[in-house]
Amino acid sequence: MLTKKIAIDGPSGAGKSTIAKLLAQSMGYTYIDTGAMYRAVALYCITKGVEPENSDQVEALLEDIEIDIRYENGIQQIFLLGENVSEKIRTPQMSLGASNVSKHKKVREKLTAMQRELANKYNVIMDGRDIATTVLPDSDVAIFLTADVKARAKRRYDELTAKGENVTFEEVLSDMELRDKNDSTRENSPLKQAENAILVDTTNLTLENSVLAIQNIINKKLR
Ligand code: C5P
Repeated sequence: MLTKKIAIDGPSGAGKSTIAKLLAQSMGYTYIDTGAMYRAVALYCITKGVEPENSDQVEALLEDIEIDIRYENGIQQIFLLGENVSEKIRTPQMSLGASNVSKHKKVREKLTAMQRELANKYNVIMDGRDIATTVLPDSDVAIFLTADVKARAKRRYDELTAKGENVTFEEVLSDMELRDKNDSTRENSPLKQAENAILVDTTNLTLENSVLAIQNIINKKLR
């Protein structure tokens, strides 16, 4: 069966995962959060005492890393060597760690292969940084979702403080600026809008209106 592939790329905090999850649910597609895979690699490296920036040491660990994506009540759960790490990977340390491990070529190759395999099995809405440019250049719909960095940092700050994380807005903003810079200037598959991607800026859009805007684009493209 030829599967349908919807790619959503953009910087962190633009609303990719929230929007992609809602759309996947309403369309009956499988949502794939590729950032979670980079976060799981970062978690493994940090647990083993390896600096996420150190390409030789990170690449040496790659063979031991087994990542598995499963769905519980339609929600993606990520397993690292059999352990469900879906919660553990959602900390500021893992965000930065993921951004650092994601620079390494072999890390990207391993995860890209897993992502393509999933997209060939299921109708997917996949979010990340390089989905339309590299992972699924043959996507049926490609969206580049962005928003002003301060608006994105505010959303992430609200999310983290709601979970009880002890962070300041300034810390979240400077982490986000650093990740934006890392992600868009790295040599391997940098974050950028694919030629076929449609730009959606959510700075002044409510979540509901962002979902509607993207659903309209998808409907037109898949018609
Ligand atoms: O999307 P999320 O914020 O969870 O991603 C964490 C980090 O993983 C990003 O900052 C980025 O460096 C990396 N990433 C990537 N390519 C993807 C998804 C995430 O490089 N497709």
